[in-house]
Amino acid sequence: MSELDFAAIGIGPFHLSLAALLEKEKSFKALFFDLKKEFEWHSELMFADADMQTSFMKDLVTPVDPTNANSFLNYLVSNDLFYSFMNTGRRTISRREFERYGRWVAQRLNSLRFSHRVESVRFDGSQFEVGTSQGTFRSKDICVGTGPVPRVPEVARNLLSDRVFHAKSEHLKNLRLDGLDVAIIGGGQTGIEVFRSCFSGLWGSARSVTLVSRRDNLEPLDESPFTNEYFAPGYVESFHHLPETQKRAIVAKQKLASDGNTPAYLQSLYNDLYRIKNVEDDRRPIRILPMRNLEYMAKRDSGYELQLANRYASATEALFADVVILCTGFETRLPHAIEPLLNQLDLDETRLPKLEKNFRVKWNGPATNRIYAVNFGRYSHGIAEPQTSLMAWRSATIINDLFGRTVYPVSPSRPSFLHYDRLEESF
Ligand SMILES: Cc1cc2nc3c(=O)[nH]c(=O)nc-3n(C[C@H](O)[C@H](O)[C@H](O)COP(=O)(O)OP(=O)(O)OC[C@H]3O[C@@H](n4cnc5c(N)ncnc54)[C@H](O)[C@@H]3O)c2cc1C
Repeated sequence: MSELDFAAIGIGPFHLSLAALLEKEKSFKALFFDLKKEFEWHSELMFADADMQTSFMKDLVTPVDPTNANSFLNYLVSNDLFYSFMNTGRRTISRREFERYGRWVAQRLNSLRFSHRVESVRFDGSQFEVGTSQGTFRSKDICVGTGPVPRVPEVARNLLSDRVFHAKSEHLKNLRLDGLDVAIIGGGQTGIEVFRSCFSGLWGSARSVTLVSRRDNLEPLDESPFTNEYFAPGYVESFHHLPETQKRAIVAKQKLASDGNTPAYLQSLYNDLYRIKNVEDDRRPIRILPMRNLEYMAKRDSGYELQLANRYASATEALFADVVILCTGFETRLPHAIEPLLNQLDLDETRLPKLEKNFRVKWNGPATNRIYAVNFGRYSHGIAEPQTSLMAWRSATIINDLFGRTVYPVSPSRPSFLHYDRLEESF
């Protein structure tokens, strides 16, 4: 059985960043496990026109270690892409290119183990035993980074099939929509990307395409500079100190800073609709239904009936579709593998781990054995937690905590222009 200092479950971008930044500590024995064969980034949703919502400068390492060889800039230079990339004038890159960059980094690191599904994690009193599909590893500390899982609305759960499915699934790969009525549920970024792919014929020529959204409109991502201060270390540090009772309401208000639709994408979607409807005279029903909640779904002789509550018209509506694609987002859940540890963890009312400032999970085991978790802190650390913006900073924070010293400087030394904390001169 291998003995490790650190075992990490999952190799999404967040753990890839941690692995890249840990490379500096040569004698530290860390392994990262993923069930996939190689690094992938939401490959089921990899549309050709999908761009990142975050600047390429906020890559896996640069914000805390700009000289690190695993930067996006080094990816460009090493692949002889620098000059032509500069000519694109891009501030954000396509999701495909981010995945290629991630794969390039993954190939450079020795600490990654793909095709290793983590099946169980136990604590034997002094070490964690991480059972994988390819053997068991013992480790002093662990980190959980298994990512969010697709959220399926209650009303659709019993109907899941190759005709009713969450967008993040294998079904999009073999989808054929010729002559069919399609309903897309969810008006976030994935919803509008699927909507556009449906009406533009990526999966054949659908008879009708309807996008149903709970939101008031197709709402844009708020990328303005003061809003972007939520994605700075100083704000996260200050947010963590707030009373729990306040945090959820603040995060809910900040929704469009993280879950809004890319403004440039909205523009090109609008322009596509204009062209298709008003220049090419496409007669198919292609429509967007905002302010609708999906209340009920039932199988009919052919296809499905969807019952929608229209908040604008205060009416209940029926919609029929042959195929229903759920773009209903993701939810955070601890992986099954962690179950043997569950009764030792301090969980909140939603069964998620309570996190300390340095991303340690609160638990009743020895303080010398640490459990960290990434992408579990939306309500403890704030709206930046599920985003890539601060992944390098969070990795550096965890590394500093692991080593008990400043491996990477992370504490902001310059104040923000926005002062949320109590003024010192207050009384
Ligand atoms: C389509 C899409 C686009 C996004 N675009 C952006 C963006 O532009 N900007 C931004 O800031 N954020 C974006 N996000 C949000 C966020 O950055 C991503 O969700 C990101 O992938 C989260 O990284 P992660 O490492 O937490 O999890 P994931 O990327 O989900 O990775 C988790 C990994 O854990 C593995 N795993 C799970 N269980 C096990 C197990 N038992 N054993 C071994 N391995 C396991 C999985 O195979 C997976 O590879 C996007 C999200 C989605 C869904």
